[in-house]
Amino acid sequence: QPLVKKTTSIPIALYGGRNAVTMLPGGGIGPELMVYVKEIFKYSGAPVDFELIEIDPKSDESNDLEYAITSIKRNGVAIKGNIETKSESTIVQSRNVAIRNELDLYVNVLHCHSYPHVKARQSNIDILIIRQNTEGEYAMLEHESVSGVVESMKVVTKSNSERVCRFAFEFARKNNRKKVTTIHKANIMKLSDGLFLETSRTVAKEYPEIEHNDMIIDNCCMQLVSNPHQFDVMIMTNLYGTIVSNVVCGLVGGAGLLSGRNYGDHYAIFEPGTRNTGTAIAGKNIANPIAMINASIDMLDHLGHKQHSRIISEAVRKTVCKDKLHTPDLGGTATSTEVVQRIIDHILQADLRAW
Ligand code: ATP
Repeated sequence: QPLVKKTTSIPIALYGGRNAVTMLPGGGIGPELMVYVKEIFKYSGAPVDFELIEIDPKSDESNDLEYAITSIKRNGVAIKGNIETKSESTIVQSRNVAIRNELDLYVNVLHCHSYPHVKARQSNIDILIIRQNTEGEYAMLEHESVSGVVESMKVVTKSNSERVCRFAFEFARKNNRKKVTTIHKANIMKLSDGLFLETSRTVAKEYPEIEHNDMIIDNCCMQLVSNPHQFDVMIMTNLYGTIVSNVVCGLVGGAGLLSGRNYGDHYAIFEPGTRNTGTAIAGKNIANPIAMINASIDMLDHLGHKQHSRIISEAVRKTVCKDKLHTPDLGGTATSTEVVQRIIDHILQADLRAW
């Protein structure tokens, strides 16, 4: 018998029963939202210590990005706001993309669901968007071949398509979802989107109990607005993923509500679903804190702190759906701090024995 069991997974950092998690506030409203997360964790007693790393959006040369990646590799898990790239240089690439690529976070999961009593364009939405997260149009391979002619490469690989599709079907099976829809533009991009579509059809054959269909991205956008209830689980390449995520978030209440999860085989990053910076509303005490708090709940779930995640999630539900305490983006008049304070009040009132 070998002394050490062979495993491909890297253990998540745990010191004295507490998890270490990398915190990347990013720009705009990111830093204030992180303060709220820390307060809520303090009052709920969540056993997490944050390693704060700030990335200078203007610097081309700083080592911040390297520190951030090293920290996530050490801790295994991060919570993140959107990191701006303010450099004028076209050589400096998006740090958000660089982090996802370096950590091979090949899948993004966004659970788009309606909140009762939140005014929205559509109600009873329950859609899972599963998006390829590291290639496609985000390959960051652009060049000006001759003056006035720019080429940008969209990269689709069979191996990455296959693991995203498999993730989606496994997710559907585990969560008793009935249908998976592949979103594509294979009628025009016959090779790249054709490969993604073909791979999804091949993987679908291994899951006969789950219905599989496909839809062209333009029709998908129209259907999402007019008849979104036909969708259950959706899989797509990177750029379609960001567009569709924003459309569906818009349908259920906007950028301030939902969280998104980025997974690879070894690391995970949790963040607001639509990855906005919100520079124009920063420092005004009006940003909706719910999306980032939901990201922190996802993170606690991932770390196995189910009790803490349930207590916070119930406090959020009571605040948003029962008390109907909403920030201006949801048509309310509450400030960010009033919403956070109410969540903390509910946490303090929770009967811990009931969990
Ligand atoms: P900027 O980042 O300079 O505000 P932008 O138009 O690119 O400009 P995004 O950060 O992409 O804005 O956000 C899109 C929209 O969603 C903006 O109107 C922003 O104010 C809003 N938004 C984003 N996050 C939140 C939030 N947590 N609460 C309320 N509104 C938000």
